[in-house]
Amino acid sequence: MDRSVSKIERQVPVRALNCGGGCANRRIGINTRSPRRAPLQPIMTKTLAPQTGTAFELAKGQSLRVIDLEGEQVADLVAFNTSDKNEWLSSGRSIDYASRIYLTTGDILYSNRSRPMFTILQDDVRRHDFLLTPCSRETFAIIYGQKDYHPSCFENLAKHLARFGIASDSIPTTFNIFMNVEIDTAGKMSILPPRSKAGDAITLRAEMDLIVGLTACSAEQSNNYKFKPIGYQIC
Ligand SMILES: [Zn+2]
Repeated sequence: MDRSVSKIERQVPVRALNCGGGCANRRIGINTRSPRRAPLQPIMTKTLAPQTGTAFELAKGQSLRVIDLEGEQVADLVAFNTSDKNEWLSSGRSIDYASRIYLTTGDILYSNRSRPMFTILQDDVRRHDFLLTPCSRETFAIIYGQKDYHPSCFENLAKHLARFGIASDSIPTTFNIFMNVEIDTAGKMSILPPRSKAGDAITLRAEMDLIVGLTACSAEQSNNYKFKPIGYQIC
């Protein structure tokens, strides 16, 4: 059975019942291109089981809200232009133009062609990683010496993006929502437990028609050694 596409009914925290973009839009002066200013209402709510992933279409102007249902759980995000899959979410472009490695409310996530793919409308946690690649079977072998099979974000993304004709070799660095990577003055990276608590969320508005891949991360260290579900809404 393909656990990753099963729709698990769970109680979504009250705070997550709307997409929360309205107030954020006013505060940071983002043009929503919509006369509606009230908080965005979800048209779809789903839950990813632990260590699974999915892929879906997100239309320009729609928002994706990713919710850490239980706390301390990472979700890897990637996106491609629906009409030209050679345009993809670019860590390098996004960090370069923001001049920061930690992106949050008001920041834009750019494509490899320097066009906006997402705007972050709201962010409870303000700590996400955009430096590291999605965990893969090789990640666990190279870093942790794990020889046996291990579920991974890369495998989950590849499996679901294949339905849209996207090859695994096309998967770039992911925007690792809620992942807490600290960098010291010598440049040494430390993966710490996520700062997210149960019900914390981030809302990203699509700035073009997108194919989106999303996971509930499978790496022990990134998730404080416990695998939990991830909720997501399209608004
Ligand atoms: Zn992962």
